[in-house]
Amino acid sequence: MSTIVASSPALAPNADLTTLPNLFARLKGRSEALRRESAAERAARLEELGRWLTQNRRRIEQALYADFRKPAEEAALSEIYVSQLELRHTLQHLREWMSPRKVGTPLPLLGTRAWVQPEPKGVVLIIAPWNYPFYLALDPLISALAAGNCCMLKPSEMTPHTSALLREMVAEVFDPSEVVVCEGDRDVSTALLQLPFDHIFFTGSPQVGKIVMRAAAEHLTAVTLELGGKSPVLVDETASLRDAAEKIVWGKFLNAGQTCVAPDYLLVHESVRNALVEEIRQATRRLHDADGRGVQQSDSYARIVNGHHFRRLSHLLEEGQRTGGTLEMGGIVDQSECFIEPTLISNVPEDAGLWQEEIFGPILPLRTYRTLMEAVDFINARPRPLALYLFSQSRENRRYVLSHAPAGGVSVNDTIVHLMHPDLPFGGLGNSGMGRCHGRYGFDTFSNLKSVLQQRVGPTSVKMLYPPYTPRVRKMIDLLLRFF
Ligand code: NAD
Repeated sequence: MSTIVASSPALAPNADLTTLPNLFARLKGRSEALRRESAAERAARLEELGRWLTQNRRRIEQALYADFRKPAEEAALSEIYVSQLELRHTLQHLREWMSPRKVGTPLPLLGTRAWVQPEPKGVVLIIAPWNYPFYLALDPLISALAAGNCCMLKPSEMTPHTSALLREMVAEVFDPSEVVVCEGDRDVSTALLQLPFDHIFFTGSPQVGKIVMRAAAEHLTAVTLELGGKSPVLVDETASLRDAAEKIVWGKFLNAGQTCVAPDYLLVHESVRNALVEEIRQATRRLHDADGRGVQQSDSYARIVNGHHFRRLSHLLEEGQRTGGTLEMGGIVDQSECFIEPTLISNVPEDAGLWQEEIFGPILPLRTYRTLMEAVDFINARPRPLALYLFSQSRENRRYVLSHAPAGGVSVNDTIVHLMHPDLPFGGLGNSGMGRCHGRYGFDTFSNLKSVLQQRVGPTSVKMLYPPYTPRVRKMIDLLLRFF
């Protein structure tokens, strides 16, 4: 890794805006043929992608390191491996997902057959963020291709090396009339959003999510919004503190906290607060400073993506301290490297930015609670979180939190890992998004689930209800209302 220049400040170049309508038209033209493809043909395209992933591991790791010094191991796990998992799971189930899904026959429709027949939506737009710039482009792309769509992919301009690599990958693996990458910033997004896509899959901030939804409304295009927000982690008095601390430290400081489902703030029962803080300090040392030279020297810790986000985070931290916050751990920042130390801070007032906005960096504010109800009320008083983490060995407490605190997804006694389960839908609600991805849910997102009912020819139960509304028909309607 030593030969690679890290954290280039450059942005990805903008695609030529005048070409976008033609690119779109080409995808549109091709999408009709894709509609008729067999499972084997779709699988062949995905297998080709799988081969490229296997052969290009180093290129992917190098691009991510160049973008924000993402450790190669972290890139392998949280960008490549998770993409492979999605791909394998999809290939394993593709035929089953594509098949018509039979449904039962209710009595009033006796004699009919009915099924749900998934069909491709057509041409879809995928807009990806910078924080997992490879995986968050690949994951929806896999689902969209599995569902038989042509795809336009717009990676984030903030991670130019990965953006360029995605463009190269798509050119090497796919027919340009089926998948295209359009690099660039908001100007490119804005131009793309003018086009009448059949679905838009957006991953990014709630602010931009609103812009995407407004633009989509113009064409009544369906949207999936994978957004962010403040995901709480709650540690109760029964939790195994060493275990909880280790998992919180891993989930929070992975990718230097730039993870949509990273724990954003910590609520801890007052009786175990000090013990948990000490365990978090020790776990941070074990995971990120094993040789005692400081986290900044560690090869296992990423950098903040750029100067803008570094300044935003430094300001949040400075404001937190200025308004009465107490540093429990960390606090070192170094602008020359966009480095921010894993930081734990308590006593920050509720109106400070650390409690008001999504942190999206390695700073964890902490707050104590007395009763579980108080903790849950605190969570519910804020916009719905994408993820919720609960550390508890009490079944009663787990049940209480699960039934009182809505969230997109939950890991109990862990952080982050629920998103690795291929059979769990991933997505948010309210401010954290709408729609679902991963596995079958991702396939369905990019499919039109067409309802088909096949009636027999001749007399049918429904015909008995046709006009004229004779006393006999009225009797049939009465029976229907009472018994069916
Ligand atoms: P962002 O919203 O700034 O950008 C996302 C994408 O939108 C980029 O491709 C960007 O070029 C484009 N964009 C930016 N401004 C635009 C505009 N005005 N009009 C149209 N497009 C525009 O988000 P980000 O900073 O790249 O990512 C961080 C955010 O994404 C955080 O809120 C995080 O929680 C969220 N996120 C969510 C998930 C999830 O799966 N739910 C995953 C990763 C990140």
